[in-house]
Amino acid sequence: MENNKLKKKASDFRYNTGETKVPWAAVGENYNAEDLMTIVKFMMQGEGAAYDKAVAEVEKTVYALDKVSEPPAKLSLDRHVAAAEDMCDEYLNTKGSTFLVNCTAGFEIACKYAGLKAGDEVIVPAITFAATMAYPLSIGCKIVFADVDPITLNMDPKDVEKKITDKTKMIVPVHIGGYAVDMDPIMELAAKHDIVVLEDAAHGFGGEYKGRKLGTIGHFGSFSFHEVKNITSFGEGGILCSTVTEFLPEMKRARFLGTDFSIKIKDWLYDVTAIKGKNGPFVATNFSTTEIQGLGLQLQIARNDQIMKARYDAAAYLTERLSGCDAIIPQDLGGDTVKPTFHLYKLLIDPEKAGGDIQVLKKKLAQKGVTEIAHFGPLYRFAILKEYGYDEDEIAKTCPVCEEVFYHRFTHFPVYGLTQEQLDYMADSILESVAEMQAEAGLK
Ligand SMILES: *Cc1c(COP(=O)(O)O)cnc(C)c1O
Repeated sequence: MENNKLKKKASDFRYNTGETKVPWAAVGENYNAEDLMTIVKFMMQGEGAAYDKAVAEVEKTVYALDKVSEPPAKLSLDRHVAAAEDMCDEYLNTKGSTFLVNCTAGFEIACKYAGLKAGDEVIVPAITFAATMAYPLSIGCKIVFADVDPITLNMDPKDVEKKITDKTKMIVPVHIGGYAVDMDPIMELAAKHDIVVLEDAAHGFGGEYKGRKLGTIGHFGSFSFHEVKNITSFGEGGILCSTVTEFLPEMKRARFLGTDFSIKIKDWLYDVTAIKGKNGPFVATNFSTTEIQGLGLQLQIARNDQIMKARYDAAAYLTERLSGCDAIIPQDLGGDTVKPTFHLYKLLIDPEKAGGDIQVLKKKLAQKGVTEIAHFGPLYRFAILKEYGYDEDEIAKTCPVCEEVFYHRFTHFPVYGLTQEQLDYMADSILESVAEMQAEAGLK
């Protein structure tokens, strides 16, 4: 490759130097046509003569394009990241939302804002993903598990109330499967006890609670764009939102070490400052995203309403097929109060009417080849908590609904991108399996 790249890059590489003749960017590398072809072949995989021919054509074109084009001035934190954030703000009706490497990074910023320290208590739902508790656990907070609602499997506000102590500093409601937690009572409790609420909205992008977008109700809300979530920014990504107006100007600096990119550097030196948290300053680390991720997120937000519609249609179809069976409680489709994203299709059974519990049903479904995806399960059973001195059996006693529902009643299914045959096969298999269970138990 001829080295004509330097003159093509902008002068402000990471710090704002203003215009110069010899650009800062000269310390970094970019990508070339060869690299791009590798990416094209990665994103569009295939084999056979027709594939090889199409790739060869693209290759020719990409090399021709290389001769008449310039590489992007910046690969990290620039206008496409900003444009993705603007789209989020418009979509969510928020201000200052900040694009991060992932949803878990958003949790960390919110926890640091709250000033969490060893010995503080953080209430999370009994059923969620390990990321929900990871940061507070890592700094020595006590994780307190709230029991769940028997139908939605979301944090039960009544149990949250029971578990609040004078050490409670944060509550983390998780909209499991994209179905809204009952947020009003949680926000009331938080206001009464001066507690920060961080919504784990990893499954919730576009979902609603009483006309408000999930992730925009608590003091903070963090979304995930990991490849298994409803939309993705090339495999990883997250958006952090906040309703804490005084923190909004800090939030983007909290993504990159406390740097303010709008300030032109002075006397050949950049400077950083601490971020203003609720009770004092904190040190920001680095959760920056790339321009490619920014582009990817814009593309997917643009089609999120279509994606939500397709998910709704598939869920509605399954619910209709399953609602004839009185042993099955199909996924609730929502209404005026709750608009789910249908990240997952939740299904419950009534073990008495089904002639057995969910473990029997799951075994039968696995035999029929209906997916065995890892479940969101009781976190207090995870090995890491035992290693940190938690007594799982004692905690289980404080979460009786979780114990009953998770081990005897509940499972969840994927519901997006399936063919009509696959959807039908899933519905048929569920109905047949329950009928088999009922016959084996002598019920029907
Ligand atoms: C995926 C997920 C997360 C973490 O999201 P990342 O973007 O992977 O950090 C957090 N909470 C729940 C409930 C999740 O499913």
